[in-house]
Amino acid sequence: MSRIDTLPPLREVIAKHDLAAKKSLGQNFLLDLNLTAKIARLAGDLTQADILEIGPGPGGLTRGLLAEGARKVLAIEKDPRCMPALAEIADAYPGRLQVINGDALTVNPLDHLTKPIKIAANLPYNVGTELLVRWLTPPAWPPFWDSLTLMFQREVAHRIVAQPGSKAFGRLALLAQWRADAQIVMELPPEAFTPPPKVSSAVVHLTALPAPRYPADPGILNTVVAAAFNQRRKMLRSALKSVSPEIEDHLTAVGIKPTERAEQVGLEEFCALARSLA
Ligand code: SAM
Repeated sequence: MSRIDTLPPLREVIAKHDLAAKKSLGQNFLLDLNLTAKIARLAGDLTQADILEIGPGPGGLTRGLLAEGARKVLAIEKDPRCMPALAEIADAYPGRLQVINGDALTVNPLDHLTKPIKIAANLPYNVGTELLVRWLTPPAWPPFWDSLTLMFQREVAHRIVAQPGSKAFGRLALLAQWRADAQIVMELPPEAFTPPPKVSSAVVHLTALPAPRYPADPGILNTVVAAAFNQRRKMLRSALKSVSPEIEDHLTAVGIKPTERAEQVGLEEFCALARSLA
């Protein structure tokens, strides 16, 4: 049994605190502490950073983050059953782990953390994409975080890093790549989790760029991209008609063929279109 600290193995923790996984909370636990330490290392140097972790569960990744030297971890967990197990970890790392029993969608991490801040999580699949979109669309850029190291279903991870011309390319890729560098850094089979989910997973590492890759108004870019991909099989001149009656002129002015479909158009061109429409 792998060990990264003097705390008991996770199987014992789960048995002791009766933490049978609940499907409704997206609970698929990582019990191999070598693996959770490896994921923690993928987040980069933690020693000078505060870490936000969503959904610590029995605390495998939390232990990895602390063992790798995180200055402080704020762990937000919805399931009250996990609190005693997480309290034991907090005792083993005095003053470095704060646990909040609550919904990650309603807690403001800035009330508890000091910059620089990194986010690392084996996310609950039911709220993973919503959280990512929130972190990528703050009111101002740069955001409160420096990097995100996040587990997703493999298919979602591929949508985040997708390039034009691929089926996976869409809103999520454009949103992520406009203001961040995004890379898949680890792929995991279902058996890495207890219980195993139906699909494979992947860890995506995103680093916030100091400024967007190409200038564009975030609201206009979002409207254009949403309209273009809502009807991704249509030519852009019809998919974007609702955005502007002169859409053909704008498309031509920035060098996009009006007969092209959204998935053929790259980030730089979408930003140019947003500027033309502004
Ligand atoms: N980090 C643990 C691990 O790697 O073993 C658990 C990961 S499990 C995929 C997701 C965790 O998120 C569960 O512990 C679940 O209870 C928690 N969770 C689900 N929805 C949540 C929410 N809205 N806010 C905070 N935690 C949530």
